[in-house]
Amino acid sequence: MQRIVVLAGGIGGARFLRGLKSAAPDAEITVIGNTGDDIHLFGLKICPDLDTLMYTLGGGIHEGQGWGRADETFVVKEELAAYGVGPGWFGLGDRDFATHIVRTQMIAAGYPLSAVTEALCTRWQPGVRLLPMTDDRVETHVLIDTADLGESAPGEGAESRRAVHFQEYWVRLRASVDAHAVVPVGADAAKPAPGVLEAIADADVVLFPPSNPVVSIGTILAVPGIREAIADAGVPVVGLSPVVGGAPVRGMADKVLSAVGVETTAAAVARHYGSGLLDGWLVDTVDEDSVPSVQEAGIRCRAVPLMMNGTEATAEMARQSLLLAEEVRA
Ligand code: GDP
Ligand code: CA
Repeated sequence: MQRIVVLAGGIGGARFLRGLKSAAPDAEITVIGNTGDDIHLFGLKICPDLDTLMYTLGGGIHEGQGWGRADETFVVKEELAAYGVGPGWFGLGDRDFATHIVRTQMIAAGYPLSAVTEALCTRWQPGVRLLPMTDDRVETHVLIDTADLGESAPGEGAESRRAVHFQEYWVRLRASVDAHAVVPVGADAAKPAPGVLEAIADADVVLFPPSNPVVSIGTILAVPGIREAIADAGVPVVGLSPVVGGAPVRGMADKVLSAVGVETTAAAVARHYGSGLLDGWLVDTVDEDSVPSVQEAGIRCRAVPLMMNGTEATAEMARQSLLLAEEVRA
């Protein structure tokens, strides 16, 4: 049986996994999920990427939106707002609240996040083994100019900078101001969650789905030991570009790519991972011209359609990534 390890963020990772499950129904798939987006609100621990993966693969996702629950209502949020309790910018529905309550309750009882995630998955049956990258607290922060917000701290002038939580940058500010740095706070002291290094060591192939290279896959790779385990596993590592035609397919990944000095092109993202980590890279057919430059960087590259329009198109992307992995292995 083929053992596949996938490093995943939220929407891009989840949609790719749906295609991968369909393309490789007999494979044993382990997903290492990003937890740098996690946030504490209203006393609850919220894990947006793990939940997007779980709901998408378990059939509970709001399809159009790509995050949150289908058939959602927002009574709790409205009642909180009536008390003047925010933030109002983070969308939490009533059904979704239950997940965060169960998670927070189990963590308060002493269970690590990996055990909590396993328990939540007993209900959702995502058809993959879903592991958080770590049980330790890691929080991605983004450094911005306060002047860009139209505010500056007293006596500090226009030059002052402030770190905001990734969710505040992404959801409240919609990445509308420049990011000067992206810092996975706590990552340097975090340990991979139980099972993560073992899954990588036992894998036949490691895939990077079209997830955000900085704040999703980059954060997972920032947990000491994970990048090294992948590089040392001696198995093909193949990625699929989240950048098509010089722009992210959805979202604002260009903002966080600029923050780490990477151009928003499929080739630049491949070079950012580098040939020390990546063996193969798929770019979209519109980026066919960039194939030679990726290959010159020592990464085997192919141009294939990379738009995840429906499960069949996505399954074909997954098949192509597994084919490229076989080519690399040969
Ligand atoms: P998030 O945590 O919800 O932001 O999700 P991920 O990090 O897993 O994925 C976000 C990335 O997915 C974005 O950079 C998008 O450009 C990319 N993406 C979304 N839909 C598609 C698609 O259909 N094709 C490709 N190639 N990339 C996509
Ligand atoms: Ca995310």
